[in-house]
Amino acid sequence: MDLRFTAEEIAWRDEVRAFIDAELDPALRERMRVGFGPTKQETIDWQRKLNKKGWACPGWPEEFGGATWTPVQRLIFNEAIQSAPAPDLQGFNITMLGPVLAHFGTPEQKAYFLPRAANLDDWWCQGFSEPGAGSDLASLKTAAKREGDFYIVNGQKIWTSTAHMADWIFALVRTDPNARKKQEGISFLLIDMKTPGITVRPIISIDGSHHLNEVFFDDVKVPVHQRVYEENRGWDVAKYLLGNERSGIARLGKSRANLEFAVDTARQVRSGGAPLVEDRGFRHRVAQIEVDIKALELTQMRVIAAASKKSDGKPDPFSSLLKIKGTELLQATSELIMDTGGPMAMPIWASELHALGNEPIAPEWAGYMAAPYLMLRAASIYGGTNEIQRNILNKAVLRL
Ligand SMILES: Cc1cc2nc3c(=O)[nH]c(=O)nc-3n(C[C@H](O)[C@H](O)[C@H](O)COP(=O)(O)OP(=O)(O)OC[C@H]3O[C@@H](n4cnc5c(N)ncnc54)[C@H](O)[C@@H]3O)c2cc1C
Repeated sequence: MDLRFTAEEIAWRDEVRAFIDAELDPALRERMRVGFGPTKQETIDWQRKLNKKGWACPGWPEEFGGATWTPVQRLIFNEAIQSAPAPDLQGFNITMLGPVLAHFGTPEQKAYFLPRAANLDDWWCQGFSEPGAGSDLASLKTAAKREGDFYIVNGQKIWTSTAHMADWIFALVRTDPNARKKQEGISFLLIDMKTPGITVRPIISIDGSHHLNEVFFDDVKVPVHQRVYEENRGWDVAKYLLGNERSGIARLGKSRANLEFAVDTARQVRSGGAPLVEDRGFRHRVAQIEVDIKALELTQMRVIAAASKKSDGKPDPFSSLLKIKGTELLQATSELIMDTGGPMAMPIWASELHALGNEPIAPEWAGYMAAPYLMLRAASIYGGTNEIQRNILNKAVLRL
């Protein structure tokens, strides 16, 4: 099997890279290279540049502004963004909600929400997980009781990324507590975050950042026309949403960018009297990671090739393999960066010295290394934990 890119695909990659070079703020790019995330406004500005170019919502149908790219073109686009590095497309708007509304939404929902989602005029967040419902999502309890033209929503969501900066939340709620099967009593609602009765409480994560939240609903009135698809059929919508986006799931572009950063840094750090980059142990680790990236790249191309021959619309169970290995590589490369910094990578060190007014004893990049390393521990949890992905593989592939 020939897994090389065609001449047209290479030309496409060059076009995407040229656009990024021309349009991405170099200062943001450098901050992202050393591990910072973009701010909300930077993400919005970038998304709007892509939207103007017609590249903001690749997986959407063409009539709603989607691009008619092949799966390989989408992969090339995602990897160019990740390895630049540039801000990712805002996932809740673009990869989750957009395709759902395009597929299940009413004409009014499509006309109002889709253009606003593409341009990030509304920032969406995802209200699925609850304290007792993560991997076992169908156990969710947040209740929505119908009263005339409204649902009255009561309950709690947790781990809601960016809820504190969101305008809207798409949430799974229980509309029939007596349904025969727990999947059958769930509906999918679009809720304005400004509605009275919503409280957002921060959860500060291990890297010290505020990305996660708890969201409480206390008699929140939601118009019935903000329900997507039929009442009690929200599980169909959720399955579509979760299975929809598979392109770029391995985030190999990001792992490659991490590896490059580690090697760059190792040129500046000395170990045993020589640059760390010349150390045999270090070179061995880099080589191992490079081989793993290459192997996953080939697997990814095979999954894409197989998907183009499938017509049942179901996600390929092998995409679980991409998620497992992809997140393991993200963690391995961020660990290599931390090890390259050694004791200098302690996050407090450089900043404490600055606070004392002394010259920093570590280069500036060293102070930024720990946060992404710590936060990437979560990569094997969100988006379906790696244990759950292994279960999917066992069931579908090994048939255990
Ligand atoms: C950084 C981050 C961002 C997130 N953002 C969002 C968000 O924006 N919106 C949202 O709705 N949710 C979000 N989540 C929640 C995420 O989807 C859940 O954390 C995830 O689904 C796991 O659920 P849980 O935390 O309840 O763990 P549990 O499901 O309780 O799992 C605990 C442990 O048990 C294991 N386990 C559970 N069931 C099985 C099984 N059947 N077989 C083998 N092992 C099993 C799990 O793998 C895990 O190791 C986020 C999570 C994180 C960490």
